[in-house]
Amino acid sequence: MNYKDSLHNPIFEVISQASKALNVESYVIGGFVRDLILKRDFKKDIDIVAVGSGIKLALKVSELLPKKPKVQVFKTYGTAMLRFEDTEIEFVGARKESYTHDSRNPIVENGTLEDDQNRRDFTINALALSLSESNFGELLDPFGGLVDIENKILKTPLDPDITFSDDPLRMLRAIRFATQLNFEIEVNSFQSITNNAERIKIISGERIVDELNKILSAAKPSIGFLLLYKTGLLDIILPELTALNQVEEIEGHTHKNNFYHTLEVVDNICPNTDDVWLRWAALLHDIGKAPTKKFNKKQGWTFHGHEFLGGKMVKKLFERLHMPLNQKMKFVQKMVMMSSRPIVLSQDIVTDSAVRRLVFDAGEDVEDLMTLCEADITTKNPNKFKKYHHNFVIVRKKIVEVEERDSVRNFQPPISGEQIMTIFNLKPSREIGILKEAVKEAILEGEIPNEYEAAYNFVLKRAEKLGLNPIEN
Ligand code: ATP
Ligand code: MG
Repeated sequence: MNYKDSLHNPIFEVISQASKALNVESYVIGGFVRDLILKRDFKKDIDIVAVGSGIKLALKVSELLPKKPKVQVFKTYGTAMLRFEDTEIEFVGARKESYTHDSRNPIVENGTLEDDQNRRDFTINALALSLSESNFGELLDPFGGLVDIENKILKTPLDPDITFSDDPLRMLRAIRFATQLNFEIEVNSFQSITNNAERIKIISGERIVDELNKILSAAKPSIGFLLLYKTGLLDIILPELTALNQVEEIEGHTHKNNFYHTLEVVDNICPNTDDVWLRWAALLHDIGKAPTKKFNKKQGWTFHGHEFLGGKMVKKLFERLHMPLNQKMKFVQKMVMMSSRPIVLSQDIVTDSAVRRLVFDAGEDVEDLMTLCEADITTKNPNKFKKYHHNFVIVRKKIVEVEERDSVRNFQPPISGEQIMTIFNLKPSREIGILKEAVKEAILEGEIPNEYEAAYNFVLKRAEKLGLNPIEN
């Protein structure tokens, strides 16, 4: 097979010339080749293998390019990178890797192209196209990766127990590719992931989260989470989720399976947001339900306070996986803590004051919260489904109306503490706090508009009850 006509990017010609000048073979390998054959959107990174020094090849390529781009050299890894137009081109010397059981880091030696293909994770990622002048564009496919692409199969080039045990991150990569590409993991490889699942514990949280983010960014993340669940990996990396898969029955009362519900919510939200943090919120919105679950005869199954506890669990989970603890975490936490608020609204008559309170509490994130809650509607009862969605349309409309009138989204009190102090000639005191709170409540309840004049008159009346009189002026 020859893919000469598909190698449009002029950089390949330049690499070919540089290889010739240095008298080394070079190949484009891995994700670029796989995605080219799959006709997937081209991502902005290209991996080049040189049978020889990758660093020297990179330097030569830069020399041949008119703009002489800077070459970033990573000596310890024997790799180099340069940018050409908006593409990152990574160069590495072909290498042979051998792992010993008690070390995570392989012994690396120079090797042939085939040695290098052997160390790759899946047959579809081991495909190489020659950039040598004599057979430019020729496919080198020692493990049948092309057929596996056609059959949509993920399979390790070597014995899967070796591949996965050498670098357990590959288990997550398998599941991530299965999710992104909608491929099946071949049965021996799948079995081997199940057998080696415990080894994921030696992988850092950061690398695990990178893969989880890619699974969550796919069109249908449930594919990945179900595979993580079936292989036992999920129980190790996100036990908060597997805990949701325990449905109990007492006296004929059961409750919904919150694990499968959660996966449905995550899939539901995908067409409506590409924000991976909002997708995280969908994934974690019910995690407080396992530890708060209780049964009593009167109410049946309850999950009182699950949103609040869930919010606290978000922080612990982010810490454990070494995820960012900044605004992103706070956002996910807020979404989880507020995740039942609009639902309650949608089941009832939608009042202005309830909407105003929602906007006040959610602030800038109110649209995201609505998106989450719409995805949360997984009822199989078509009447309820219609009713809830219809009510959410009303809620969204009211959010706009209420905001236009009272701008509570970034609430600024229409009358300040200083103004109240001046009116009543007060020093800083408890009464000022009480009056300010009363003004806010009156606005949220719709008793007064968010305006100075109305707030002023309201404060006068309210102050009377506290025995305060305005000073004459
Ligand atoms: P994408 O860029 O879409 O995530 P990719 O296949 O290009 O997919 P990269 O992480 O960019 O993935 O890696 C490039 C290539 O390096 C892979 O195609 C694979 O051949 C190899 N590779 C990457 N990580 C591993 C690993 N942990 N074990 C073995 N081979 C790997
Ligand atoms: Mg890549």
